[in-house]
Amino acid sequence: MNCLDSMAPNEEELLRHALDDEPLKISAEEHLAHCSLCRQRLATYKQINTFFVSNLYRSQCPDPTQLNHYCANMLSIEDTLLITDHLKICPLCATEVLDIRRFLADFEPFPAPPTHASPVASFKQIMASLVPWQPQMVVRQTSAGGQNALWPRQYHAGSLNISLHLSRSSNGDMILLGLFSSTNPDESIDDLEGIVIELYRVSSSTTGVNGQHMQKDPQQQEMPFMCTSIDDLGNVVFKSVPPGDYRLTVHLLESDLVIKDLTIGRG
Ligand SMILES: [Zn+2]
Ligand SMILES: [Zn+2]
Repeated sequence: MNCLDSMAPNEEELLRHALDDEPLKISAEEHLAHCSLCRQRLATYKQINTFFVSNLYRSQCPDPTQLNHYCANMLSIEDTLLITDHLKICPLCATEVLDIRRFLADFEPFPAPPTHASPVASFKQIMASLVPWQPQMVVRQTSAGGQNALWPRQYHAGSLNISLHLSRSSNGDMILLGLFSSTNPDESIDDLEGIVIELYRVSSSTTGVNGQHMQKDPQQQEMPFMCTSIDDLGNVVFKSVPPGDYRLTVHLLESDLVIKDLTIGRG
């Protein structure tokens, strides 16, 4: 690629102009203005220059792992200072550090395991398991005693955590409060909002007060005693629950969650 014009700048002149910004001779400048071949030669030299500059920078650059560790504050003070100094003179690394920082800002340090169909879905009805009583929890003792009498209670089913609390309203009625939360960070409380919760009365035993066998009416048993839905904060409230034995049914999307053996005493 050589220009045969006598006014054309030679190789050396073009290089100096491209690399060191040395001005061309007026005659060469005029030639360049109307010689596409020489303009092409100059462009190539400039391109080579950019390539060399970036490679020169890169030869002194910390490797990507170090830059990542730098952004995550995982380097020693000495290494951190070295990179800080390098960033002042290297626009390439400075840009890279900005990108890494932006990425880290969105980064979830403990990513949730990939969501696959919950095992809950294959069952029509699942039983919530009562999480063993923890001594540090505040406990309301009722006359009945035993595990059944301990409040508040913590239940666990799938990714759902449910805590049930008993409280007494100003007029002496028992209030059953349920707090729903998810252990899955992908599920928000909003997903629970509107889920219908039913409170069923359960006859405490098949034996009546006088030792007589009580007739069970299966149809009547299926009628919920009280019904409400989860609010936007993941709460459910059953007001004025009379003492008795109950079971809660949570109507989830694919299944019903059942919490058994709820005995609400007289406090
Ligand atoms: Zn030329
Ligand atoms: Zn660099």
